[in-house]
Amino acid sequence: MGGNHRDAWVYGAVDPNSGTASMLEAVHGVGELLKAGWKPKRSIIFGSWDAEEEGLIGSTEWGEQHAAQLANAVAYLNMDVAVSGPKFVASSVPSLKQFLRDVARAVPGAKGGTVYDAWQKSSRPEPDNAQTPTEAIGDSRRSPQAQVNQDVPVGDLGSGSDYTVFLQHVGVPSTDVSSTGPYGVYHSVFDNFNWFKNFGDPDFKYEQQMARVFGLQAIRMANADVLPYDYQQYGREILAYLDAAKKKADGAFGSQSPDFKPAADSARKFEQAGAKVLALQRKQSSDLARLNHALRNAESALLLPDGLPNRPWFRHAIYAPGQYTGYAAVVIPGVNEAIDKHDLQLAKQQIDALAAALERATRVLNGAH
Ligand SMILES: [Zn+2]
Repeated sequence: MGGNHRDAWVYGAVDPNSGTASMLEAVHGVGELLKAGWKPKRSIIFGSWDAEEEGLIGSTEWGEQHAAQLANAVAYLNMDVAVSGPKFVASSVPSLKQFLRDVARAVPGAKGGTVYDAWQKSSRPEPDNAQTPTEAIGDSRRSPQAQVNQDVPVGDLGSGSDYTVFLQHVGVPSTDVSSTGPYGVYHSVFDNFNWFKNFGDPDFKYEQQMARVFGLQAIRMANADVLPYDYQQYGREILAYLDAAKKKADGAFGSQSPDFKPAADSARKFEQAGAKVLALQRKQSSDLARLNHALRNAESALLLPDGLPNRPWFRHAIYAPGQYTGYAAVVIPGVNEAIDKHDLQLAKQQIDALAAALERATRVLNGAH
């Protein structure tokens, strides 16, 4: 399913109306396909959320109410600000990062080439790509904490938009896309049509681009014979998170530092199970229903039965909004926040909980064959 919010602090030409216009155009495109006789293999639901700015209220209520059906949802595709400038950025769970790059390769860029070409160019670390302070609003949540390959960076999902309930409470694999730029009018009365027309996207080319990126994600997810998740990549990123957390713990606890080996072993097993499933996904010759079932449920298996310490509503073992970091994500949050609190017992307990989640997800993936 896909979604975007429709409430704004004031006029909200960029946040959220650039996203709403873009999502509605994607819906329009899907409607044209249906009229032409196309039938998606899976149902597509588009959500227009209210009260996002007041605390993600609309999407949260809907997600909680439909949690049982969402256990079968193959993806939640979010778009909040579709366009505040020309720089394409994306965030997702690691299993969908390559999917997003593939979609970007298939969509024409607003200035020629493909979205992927422009994305590659703008993410190169050149001096003229230096971030301006105003750009940081859109980009602060877009730098991945582990960059395990050389491709364009896809960020981690923290919070500040409507994917939160889907990923962090219900465990639906999620993505979030945007085209960003210097956007000093964020959440102010000046985020209006005049600003958008003069500075944001004067000829609405990026609006079209983002409608295509959003719509193509929905179409591909709905029609994939084999779900396009990459769990080997997921495992690699978790291994990198564990490495970083171990270093931090060694600094915080010295010789008392907890043993990370059980969790690292579980992450390695998860990565290996991901690699095996990837081979099956490429062959497409096995029992597809069983394969897709395992692929989808591996993400939910990463939910913690008791949730995170002090905030049990947040159940994902790998991603949460930071308690003190605003929009940015905290990775393996139970472990990292216990270390930050200097609570050794809690850190040990959360390492065990993480290892157990990874073992569960590995078993699910191994059920594919
Ligand atoms: Zn918004």
